[in-house]
Amino acid sequence: MRSSTRSAPPTLKSERSTNPVPATQGEALGWAAGRLGSVGIRESRPESLALWGTITKSDPLAALRAARKPMSDDTWERFRDAVERRAEGEPLAYAMGTAGFRTLDLRVDRRVLIPRPETEGLVQRVLDWAEAEGRHGIVADIGTGSGCIALSLAVEGSFSRVIATDTSAKAMAVAADNAAAVKSDTLVDFRVGEFFEPVRETTLDAIVTNPPYVTGGEFEDLDDGVRLYEPRDALVSPENGMWHIRRILEDAMDHLNPGGLLVLEVDARRADPAIDIAGRNGWSAKIEKDVFDRPRYLLCNPAHGGNV
Ligand code: SAM
Ligand code: GLN
Repeated sequence: MRSSTRSAPPTLKSERSTNPVPATQGEALGWAAGRLGSVGIRESRPESLALWGTITKSDPLAALRAARKPMSDDTWERFRDAVERRAEGEPLAYAMGTAGFRTLDLRVDRRVLIPRPETEGLVQRVLDWAEAEGRHGIVADIGTGSGCIALSLAVEGSFSRVIATDTSAKAMAVAADNAAAVKSDTLVDFRVGEFFEPVRETTLDAIVTNPPYVTGGEFEDLDDGVRLYEPRDALVSPENGMWHIRRILEDAMDHLNPGGLLVLEVDARRADPAIDIAGRNGWSAKIEKDVFDRPRYLLCNPAHGGNV
């Protein structure tokens, strides 16, 4: 019959659109591995464990030992949401809300680029140089994002101060949160602004930067996980990917102490043009390779006043 004035029976919406709470933690992990596997994620089991570990703030191995423990509603909701976000294509680090970088566990979300393994090598260049040259003054990280470079230098180095800059106030908020969670005696000073504007009155021993260096076209070809989730402004640079690098190579020397170091992460495909721009701007420069054997780090000293 057609509709009557009587109210419709209650729908069972909540039972359809959400999964019932699994009885045990083991069942929850089994569901997660199946869900991630069903969308083609090859490392579905380790990823499920990683998500479990960050949601419950426990060692993933603890989950293996506690597979028969009952599942609480609250943990299940948070775990299921994180698994669903990952299954829908969000990068694992964002779904977890954390990323490892050198000795640090950093909070990350869509306001900041997820730190890349090659950037760990950029930090190493600065630490090695400072140690070899006995330079312990002020170091600046231009475009700090999550704060990964600046905070690693504060924790692992022996600088008097680290200055971290970014044009993005949103990124800076994440970096400042990360700083609050990191134990270091070195002051890290966060300043919003473009290029060297935030350090215009400071003379630096070293400048380190992982600037945007991807072309607009390359960005369109990046994996969906990067293209749809990571901040475009953190990756794309005009002038065929070279605008930020050119601006930094033109201006950095004015802010550096004699014999100071400028080190940039560059795109492996454009290491040669980066060296050329460095030479034209009075730098003595060389390229070093990253852990994947790709030309990646541009190390520069003022040609008249230091050596690389
Ligand atoms: N340092 C972080 C890392 O290595 O993961 C983030 C690097 S990300 C490739 C570049 C960062 O530079 C972004 O956080 C972006 O907001 C910032 N940025 C872009 N243009 C800038 C500019 N002109 N001056 C300072 N920072 C800039
Ligand atoms: N290497 C980064 C990538 O994965 C690019 C980082 C940058 O633009 N600085 O795309």
